[in-house]
Amino acid sequence: MDLSRLRAAFSGRLLVEADEMAPWLTDWRRKWTGRAIAVAQPDTAADVAAVMRWCHEQRVPVVPQGGNTGLSGGATPDQSGAALVLSLSRLNRVRRIDAANNSLEVEAGVTLLQVQQAAREAGRLFPLSLAAEGTCTIGGNLASNAGGVQVLRYGNARDLCLGLEVVTPAGELWHGLRGLRKDNTGYSLRDLYIGSEGTLGIITAASLKLFPLPAAQVAAFIAVPSPAAAIELLQRAQQQLGPTLTAFELIGDTCIRLVEKHVDAARLPLADRSPWYVLIEVSETRDEASANEALEALLGSAFENEIATDAALSQSLSQFEALWALREDISESQGAEGRTIKHDISLPISAIAEFVEQTDAAIEKQFPGLRRVVFGHAGDGNLHYNLSPADGDTDEARFVALEAPINRLVHDAVVSFGGSISAEHGLGVLRRDESARYKSEVELALMRTLKAALDPHHLMNPGKLLP
Ligand code: FAD
Repeated sequence: MDLSRLRAAFSGRLLVEADEMAPWLTDWRRKWTGRAIAVAQPDTAADVAAVMRWCHEQRVPVVPQGGNTGLSGGATPDQSGAALVLSLSRLNRVRRIDAANNSLEVEAGVTLLQVQQAAREAGRLFPLSLAAEGTCTIGGNLASNAGGVQVLRYGNARDLCLGLEVVTPAGELWHGLRGLRKDNTGYSLRDLYIGSEGTLGIITAASLKLFPLPAAQVAAFIAVPSPAAAIELLQRAQQQLGPTLTAFELIGDTCIRLVEKHVDAARLPLADRSPWYVLIEVSETRDEASANEALEALLGSAFENEIATDAALSQSLSQFEALWALREDISESQGAEGRTIKHDISLPISAIAEFVEQTDAAIEKQFPGLRRVVFGHAGDGNLHYNLSPADGDTDEARFVALEAPINRLVHDAVVSFGGSISAEHGLGVLRRDESARYKSEVELALMRTLKAALDPHHLMNPGKLLP
């Protein structure tokens, strides 16, 4: 295919050699590798539109890519070599801060960390936070409706977005960058593009919600006897701490043992082990003393009622970070142990304890000895229900062969409890077919109608999200 017209159509870079394109053709976890006719790196939204017009004319499929940290294979092209990868990484300008409106306008390729920093420089908080924040982009966060650790208080990416600028598959530019909290003027196109995983259009910029910076943040690492006790603690915490409760993470002891094994500085901050722990963050808009006081009152009542057995509170920023590191290092520590089978699931909070109990028992019965590495944003009903081979088992092929039947077992259980098989990582190619299995014909038909209306030639990220 003659790419000279494309090269002339925009001012960014165009990579065409296999070796220079390689970093854009494999996903973060190295699970998928594809081929592409080129990787285009436009500099501006107008350039993105020019690339899209060329792709539309030539009927070339497009795979949008931000920081390439997605965990579902959504940003990797397929093996056909027919698609163009459109990288947004050079659209990296912070356009405008409106402190009085508590809003910030940024281009899609700005990393999440840079968004947080820009907000902080204006004396504001942008609360979306996840372990890939130094690399993932705000465009990718919105396209996959990312969650992270502060959803409990501030919501997910969708809740933090006021407006979008989008390039359509035909190369038109939609200026939807309204910094408004109220706008009832018809269908919410913004909400359609958020979470669409690059299958409807290209997000080129976003208007984001900002919040006051908290005056103090305190974390507590709490031993609890069971997930049921953790959920009781969550209800008490919501009651007693109100909106200052910012994060509520459930962590199984297997997770902490893996972190202690693989991270030198990691230590359980309690005298005795417990089968489960909860990590709570309180971010107080007044001061540290009142945050501590509120947490101590919560813990006092939790000890009295035997829903918690021990706790450690952070007394400094370094202790706060060390407690959070125990949570954030779980994924990497599990990876260091060898192959993994992972599930990013969502459940009604009231069903978490029963789900864990029943699913643990079913896994142990059918696949005895596997290690269950269970943790997650329990305050949002989101668990990472992961598995590792039995300690010392080095037969990787046998473990990998278990993935499909285990997925079926776990996801059937999730759906039977009224849950979802993707809480925050999206469908991409990883969960595309399984998700379709659990959706009704009506829901699938509505989704296909939307896709056909907005992308009639099926050029946007083909093979992702919908079978
Ligand atoms: P990419 O991976 O580049 O793309 C993701 C999807 O969005 C793809 O389908 C792609 O086609 C599409 N896309 C990207 N940019 C655009 C755009 N501008 N317009 C249209 N479509 C686009 N996720 C969570 O939700 N919570 C977590 O706590 C979390 N923790 C993580 C921790 C680690 C260590 C890692 C590696 C990942 C984690 N993730 C988490 C997953 C990932 O970081 C998020 O999904 C992130 O939002 C993806 O952003 P990205 O810029 O890397 O997008």
